[in-house]
Amino acid sequence: MARADGAPGAAGGTGRGSADSSAGRGEAAPARGSRAGRVVVVGSLNMDLVVRVERHPRPGETVMGRGHASHPGGKGANQALAAARLGASVAMVGRVGDDDHGRALLASLRAGGVDVGAVLTGTQPTGVAFIQVDGAGQNSIVVSPGANAEVTPSDVAGLGLRGAAVVMLQLEVPLETVLAAARAGRAAGAAVLLNAAPARPLAGEELADVTHLLVNEHEAAALLGADAAAVIADPVAAARRLTAVAPVAVVTLGAAGAAWAERGGGEGRQPAFAVEVVDTTAAGDAFAGALAARLAAGERDLAAAVRYACAAGSLATTRAGAQPSLPTGGEVEALLAGA
Ligand code: ADP
Repeated sequence: MARADGAPGAAGGTGRGSADSSAGRGEAAPARGSRAGRVVVVGSLNMDLVVRVERHPRPGETVMGRGHASHPGGKGANQALAAARLGASVAMVGRVGDDDHGRALLASLRAGGVDVGAVLTGTQPTGVAFIQVDGAGQNSIVVSPGANAEVTPSDVAGLGLRGAAVVMLQLEVPLETVLAAARAGRAAGAAVLLNAAPARPLAGEELADVTHLLVNEHEAAALLGADAAAVIADPVAAARRLTAVAPVAVVTLGAAGAAWAERGGGEGRQPAFAVEVVDTTAAGDAFAGALAARLAAGERDLAAAVRYACAAGSLATTRAGAQPSLPTGGEVEALLAGA
């Protein structure tokens, strides 16, 4: 696993190679001179390959697509970029393959100001999401995790998480790595923000190191053993119940905004912002990145952080695509000022 440029790895003394051939910055340490704390994202990088079809093929059938496009994605990369676009100092930890998709993903993050010095090269190809969209806008998606499946606890162990104010996690890399990163983040005194997506059942004790749990209504239902309708009917109660798992719980509700609760503290609802919706892709990632950015900036008022995150999520629905739709800090401030 050498660096893409063949130079010795820069990610510490473990012999692991960075996929970032642009510079020798190999650690997730705090940016020198930055006042706010750093966000370290341990998560997935995927290339989204999107093809438009009249209708989805049945097994054994071939249908003709109407053009295709590739877009940088993956929840980890999207959330890293979302936080960076809002002004946070962000480092990404993960793996890509030694291929064009990996290089394009790194370039996209780098262009957005994310430190990719701790993204390593895996032996498998870069993760890919094969996305078919039919005439009614209905998606069917197959994800091949590729190098994302090779992100190990030791990838995290060698990093300087000491400097992180927030460690941000999702469930698109192996669970043991997510849990190891949560443990390391907690030991380093960081806030540990888990966006528990995609939905999967998790034991409460597995989440012992998570300080901030962020889920949508479906993921909340999966964690609570409830159905999504019950979460939607009383999302504040769902958030309150989730504080048994983590001290802070936030439930996003699409066009209905979000609900939040603090263990032994406040709780409430935040409506979404009225916007002209074009494409809701990455709204959840914009919300997550914004919440991380506010926490890293030292925001202690959870209601204010959730309001900011809702504004970022709503803005992301006004533009097509994932990464291109993520708003800047100025855009969020303008929406908040006008509301
Ligand atoms: P996910 O994609 O993870 O399911 P959500 O759909 O709950 O995430 O969206 C996250 C946030 O984005 C919401 O809390 C809300 O602030 C904003 N949002 C999503 N859909 C809309 C919408 N149709 N109109 C306005 N804001 C939206």
